[in-house]
Amino acid sequence: MSAVICTICKRGEAFFFRPYSGEKLCRRCFIKSVDEKARATIAKYRMLEFDDEIAVAVSGGKDSVSLLHILAKIERDYPKSSLVAVTVDEGIRGYRDEALKIAAENCKKLGIEHHIVSFKELYGYTLDEIIKHLRKKGKSKLTPCAYCGVLRRKALNVVARDVKADKLATGHTLDDETQTILLNILHGDPLRMARQKPITDKAHPNLVQRMKPFCEIPEKETALYAYVKKITFQDIPCPYASEALRNDIRLFLNRMEEKHAGIKFTIFKSIQKIRPAIAKIEKKEESNKCSKCGEPTTGRICKACQMLQQLETP
Ligand code: SF4
Ligand code: ZN
Ligand code: ZN
Repeated sequence: MSAVICTICKRGEAFFFRPYSGEKLCRRCFIKSVDEKARATIAKYRMLEFDDEIAVAVSGGKDSVSLLHILAKIERDYPKSSLVAVTVDEGIRGYRDEALKIAAENCKKLGIEHHIVSFKELYGYTLDEIIKHLRKKGKSKLTPCAYCGVLRRKALNVVARDVKADKLATGHTLDDETQTILLNILHGDPLRMARQKPITDKAHPNLVQRMKPFCEIPEKETALYAYVKKITFQDIPCPYASEALRNDIRLFLNRMEEKHAGIKFTIFKSIQKIRPAIAKIEKKEESNKCSKCGEPTTGRICKACQMLQQLETP
């Protein structure tokens, strides 16, 4: 049987079929296409200025590690910019410790400065301690991910600001974005989509803008990118992974994508089109300073401090 030839270079042997474009790609053209897509997304949404200090959030998973490798290449086109990696250590025994090592190894290989901030040093508790405490007291109906998400968001902002970053890049893929769109609808909170942009607005001087260069790249391709480039990443799941609704949405979207190639892009693009209208009806909340920690918040006390207060009340 003769080899299938790459649609792009017409020479290499194709190893990957991209259903939504009909392309059959060789390894070289596949890598190049992902690099170019990330570069084009950064340009399209004007994510970077020529002299930006960029912090990449590296968890050690495939998306964030692939992003680190790609940004290390792209950043060379911005001679006055700089790139550092930041990792949040939530304190999840047997999981995050291994991911931290992988993140550090990748940074070393690329010669990128690596900064780590832990829940323990920032909040006084590891995530393991928080969950154990809440379970013992039967205090909360929220999932571990709900706590982790809020506390990690704040930690990333703190560390990005500490390293004087202008932009915080995260490895959110097209899959993450479309799942979040549907989650917001299913949670009855569609107006949140006004803020779920490829690059967030500069809403507060202390809030580092977040950019998502992979927002138009399917997760399958970021995983394949890491695999083809032999990038080391962590692939064991977090022991607390419990976002049942997100998992159902993931399965649903993957099934839809298999039957109707390109449907994730269609969802993403639809929201891009209606976002300005959603932003108009979303009530503009004032951006305040949390009276406990000083971080930006829409209320008086930020969500992270509210969660920590709940832990401390008997
Ligand atoms: Fe945190 Fe949940 Fe992710 Fe685990 S799966 S790291 S608890 S958000
Ligand atoms: Zn090719
Ligand atoms: Zn606070």
